[in-house]
Amino acid sequence: MTTKKNKMDQSLSNTSQSRSVDRKTIEKNRRIQMKALSSELNALLPQTSRAPLTLPDQLDEAANYIKKLQVNMEKMTERKRKLAATGSSSMSSSVDVSVPKRLPKIEIQETGSILHIFLVTSVEHKFIFYEIISVLSDESGAEITHAGSSTVDDTVFHTLHCKVEDCDYGASSRISETQLLHFAGIAIYASISLANDAEADDETPFTYEQNPEKGPEGWSKINPHWKVCNNGKLQSPIDLTNARVSLIHDEAWRREYKPAPAVIMNRGHDVMVSWKGDAGKLTIREMEFKLVQCHWHSPSEHTVNGTRYDLELHMVHTSARGRIAVIGVLYKLGKPNEFLTRLLDGLKTVGKEEKDLGIVDPRTIRFQTKKFYRYIGSLTVPPCTEGVIWTVVKRVNTISVEQIAALRNAVDDGYETNSRPVQDTNGRPVWFFDPNIIRV
Ligand SMILES: [Zn+2]
Repeated sequence: MTTKKNKMDQSLSNTSQSRSVDRKTIEKNRRIQMKALSSELNALLPQTSRAPLTLPDQLDEAANYIKKLQVNMEKMTERKRKLAATGSSSMSSSVDVSVPKRLPKIEIQETGSILHIFLVTSVEHKFIFYEIISVLSDESGAEITHAGSSTVDDTVFHTLHCKVEDCDYGASSRISETQLLHFAGIAIYASISLANDAEADDETPFTYEQNPEKGPEGWSKINPHWKVCNNGKLQSPIDLTNARVSLIHDEAWRREYKPAPAVIMNRGHDVMVSWKGDAGKLTIREMEFKLVQCHWHSPSEHTVNGTRYDLELHMVHTSARGRIAVIGVLYKLGKPNEFLTRLLDGLKTVGKEEKDLGIVDPRTIRFQTKKFYRYIGSLTVPPCTEGVIWTVVKRVNTISVEQIAALRNAVDDGYETNSRPVQDTNGRPVWFFDPNIIRV
């Protein structure tokens, strides 16, 4: 290959260098170039090792192929009709009426070694199709054998075929419709804004009071960079109502935390423990987020079926590209919390300066991770940056009265209750993960 290339370079430079070379040599060089190009092109084509077929065999094969296409075509037409008929109505029974039009719909079918994926989206969301293609081809290495879309009014019908044996995910038993949609959803919403903003610093002028100027309704008026707090469509917290929950199985999140030096400080509106060393990471699908800090809100910010709990812990993680992923853990009054017990001395004397806590092991923030909610939202304090991947753990943990009191005493006056009211979901999907459910 190298020698061929050298030869080509040489012949190229020869032609361009010398005007005295006669036409024959130019012709010869051109032929050499064409030959080299054509052999390079040939090398790019897939190699077929099959022996050439006789003419009758070829005709048989062609007839079979056409038959197969016809069967597929009929199936797809049928599917298309069904999807068009149920596209929005099947979802409106459980979800907000304004939502279904925007929600994409997906169905997966396995025929022989081919996986047929049917997707219906609105025109504005047709890029979900490309997200799904990239999930399949980039991450599972699947060979996409067909991809096509057709638009009828505001609706786009997509079809995608991929070879099952190529899929790392295995057969469709491991690629569930909801999973693919979830992947696509994460991609859509997380791509809206890369979260570069940090949470608000201390001495923040915003409050949690019912005050149209400084309270949650007026946060966007306090600072021009906080507009999204009141104008955004992906704000947090939200109510994690069952009606908006989809049952889905997901293996694709991992926490690998480790002990690291940490400090504690009063940020005015909350108390924060911030890790100074490498405290490990959270992996959601293949995206990695480093654990940066944790802080508390009381009462809880997220509600479940309208129920507000006594406390919510936020573990804030950031990716190398500036994306934010937050884990929310809910607490109700009961037994003391192990992690806070260790921090109690530090909490009592916490101030505006960072106070050294020594080594703090994030693994002592114990919570069950089997069942959880996931959605795309925002930071719950200004600048309310959107695109945050939220994971709210289903299992409610306990905290003692003394511990809540210690947390409330540690913040500035007026911030004893520091939870933002729930925000409109604006049709965002909220996913509920349950390991007992394999497929839905
Ligand atoms: Zn928070």
